Amino acid sequence: MTEILYPVLILGLLSVALGIVLSLVNKYLTVEEDPRIDDIEKLLPLYNCGACGTPGCRAFAEAILSGEVKNLSRCKPGKADKHFNPILAYLKDHPNPDGTIVDVKI
Ligand code: SF4
Repeated sequence: MTEILYPVLILGLLSVALGIVLSLVNKYLTVEEDPRIDDIEKLLPLYNCGACGTPGCRAFAEAILSGEVKNLSRCKPGKADKHFNPILAYLKDHPNPDGTIVDVKI
């Protein structure tokens, strides 16, 4: 009986210890991401074609928020009415943490 009890106990304790370590790592090492990235990405065409010079739509959304992208028309498949105007309206309603509005145009 003990030959099965000890491995089960050891594996159980190891599981609990690793669970605690993982929860601590999750608590203290989590990187907070700007929630606007997800929202702007959803407003883009989502072709992930790379025609804008970034690896995909998410990277383009990040570049918009960082100020690296100044012209939304770098997204070649994007349309003003369908994509760019909603992004501009979104950015106007969701300023940076310091209150400034992302400087980008069509
Ligand atoms: S060009 Fe537009 S659709 Fe293509 S990856 Fe860039 S943002 Fe996405």
